[in-house]
Amino acid sequence: MPIQTSIRTRTQQAIDLEERHGAHNYHPLPVVLDSGKGVFVWDVEGKRYYDFLSAYSAVNQGHCHPRLVKVMQEQAARMTLTSRAFYNSVLGEYARTVCTRFGYDRMLPMNTGAEAVETAIKMARKWGYEKKGIPAGKARVIVCEGNFHGRTITIVSMSTDPDSQGGFGPFTPGFEVIPYDDIPALERALEDPNVCAFLVEPIQGEKGVYVPAGDYIPRAIAACKARNVLFIADEIQTGIARTGRWLCSVPDSERDPARRPDVVVLAKALSGGMYPVSAVLANDAVMNVFTPGTHGSTYGGNPMGARLAIEALAIVEDEDLCGNAERLGQQFRSAMQQLVDTFPWVKLVRGRGLLNALVIEPRTAADGSPRTAWELCLLLRDNGLLAKPTHGDIIRFAPPLVITEAQLQECVNIISTSVRQFA
Ligand SMILES: *Cc1c(COP(=O)(O)O)cnc(C)c1O
Repeated sequence: MPIQTSIRTRTQQAIDLEERHGAHNYHPLPVVLDSGKGVFVWDVEGKRYYDFLSAYSAVNQGHCHPRLVKVMQEQAARMTLTSRAFYNSVLGEYARTVCTRFGYDRMLPMNTGAEAVETAIKMARKWGYEKKGIPAGKARVIVCEGNFHGRTITIVSMSTDPDSQGGFGPFTPGFEVIPYDDIPALERALEDPNVCAFLVEPIQGEKGVYVPAGDYIPRAIAACKARNVLFIADEIQTGIARTGRWLCSVPDSERDPARRPDVVVLAKALSGGMYPVSAVLANDAVMNVFTPGTHGSTYGGNPMGARLAIEALAIVEDEDLCGNAERLGQQFRSAMQQLVDTFPWVKLVRGRGLLNALVIEPRTAADGSPRTAWELCLLLRDNGLLAKPTHGDIIRFAPPLVITEAQLQECVNIISTSVRQFA
């Protein structure tokens, strides 16, 4: 079949090129994507898939949202980069938009998530010395086992994942690792007067969508406030409506600063997948430790990213993506629960909003071939749905938040069929 052959060749060619010339720091699912629209992506063969990864929750607004494409084209033709040596005509409006939306005095713009996490750590340390009176060089940041905050040397210094950390020392000192979802452990760690901050994900996404107890985050915030320690929420994956509200760490209605994170870190869906945009949010008393020359980024706050972020946030509001994530998330989990109740090797479903995970028990088929999360993801791919396994036994399901109820039902059918075929 000549057509079939040439199709295969296109997929294989793209994979071969990447494998031959690209660094092998990823292990992608074998599918070569070429275009996207809303909840759908198409591969180079023209086959359509539901995207259930959403670029790790960066495309909450869906692929190539027409409003984002429009402002990106307009801004690209107008001006893309000024550096912060000068003011630009968009950054101020963007800063006001994001501060008003999330309820903070100030925003510091960066590009990638890891940069924003680094920024938050620098800010917390400086605050610790200048405002809390921690002796020079002694500031400590508490983090959690199983954390994922990015890939820089400082960030992998606090990782507990051997693949992330192994071989990259010497490490940045000044971190203390405690168990996640463990308030007594946090309270013990907070007794150290040199602690300046507690950095935590409201849900551990990379760990496998590990959802802590419902009162963990509010109690952790209260414990930090009581000890004059900054609570830093890394909402890079959970923020921007993914879990059914604007921020996972605090209800949208909560405006009391005593019950809110001191610092919020955002990225990914802040620009709807168009361009790297990240931000650190804090009130004056914390953010004002930065003065001219103490921190910066050439691209941070550029008019292209700023314009996109304003529009990306407006889309979340206008299309009620929080409400959609909350409502469809509940439907999704109850559909997955039926699989858990039916198949003994489907262990559990967990998540919030449209950030969910199915945990399976890896098995061996009758013919000796493995049946891990990876093989199930290959089967899902063949059936028209893309998801990525994390560890051997967890599949994360995080579609764009613009998904409709009918589309979600179709996806539930694909997943159910695949699970049945996976016997
Ligand atoms: C993706 C992510 C990061 C790192 O962001 P990059 O843009 O990949 O540097 C940090 N924290 C969390 C929770 C993330 O999901």
